[in-house]
Amino acid sequence: MIAVGTVARWIRRFDTLVANHETHLTELDSHIGDADHGVNLVRGVHETLNALDAPTLQAQSKAIGMSLLRHVGGTSGPLLATLFLRMAAAFPVDAVEVNDTQFLEALRTGVDGLAQRGKTELGDKTMFDALSPAVATFEREHAAGTAFPEAAARAVAAAARGRDATADMVARKGRASYLGQRSLGHIDPGAASATLLVQALAEVLV
Ligand code: ADP
Ligand code: MG
Repeated sequence: MIAVGTVARWIRRFDTLVANHETHLTELDSHIGDADHGVNLVRGVHETLNALDAPTLQAQSKAIGMSLLRHVGGTSGPLLATLFLRMAAAFPVDAVEVNDTQFLEALRTGVDGLAQRGKTELGDKTMFDALSPAVATFEREHAAGTAFPEAAARAVAAAARGRDATADMVARKGRASYLGQRSLGHIDPGAASATLLVQALAEVLV
């Protein structure tokens, strides 16, 4: 089961990971963006630690989304916010915990919502290029009967492969798209931070 406490640990772990990777994320964003991704995310996610103790999964994910929207900023803030706001709507009303299948359905709804909001598809060189293969792998492994923590670990590997593949993509969305071909050869910062989000989840599911 995934409970409000699990999601709270997920965000706390994400806070630690983004703080540990702030310099790296900023460096990635300095190549193909405006070098604010690390600092914005670290500040915004840290603020979001104040939004974790709502009584239901729906209220909690909504509070997380609203906090990310308010505090992360940039392009990535509203997109990450959408992931959590759509997840919130997908949880059964009043549920304090859900089973693995329900959680995965909510995560899928969140990631699809993010793509819709960003009007992005695979290959655009965005965070979606890490999140999409991660959720697809998670679903496939779960459906095949792989234990949930192991399925999550394989989702992290898929996210990391998607992240690394963004180096070979020409950006078609966001600030990096202004660079056209010059965006080639650089990993997308949002794909890197999105991989940390999936990693944080996997680490609290063990
Ligand atoms: P900004 O360009 O406003 O400074 P951030 O630095 O906050 O944005 O975030 C940049 C990241 O946002 C990119 O690396 C990319 O992953 C993601 N991104 C940008 N545009 C989109 C979009 N339309 N859909 C999905 N993700 C996007
Ligand atoms: Mg930026």
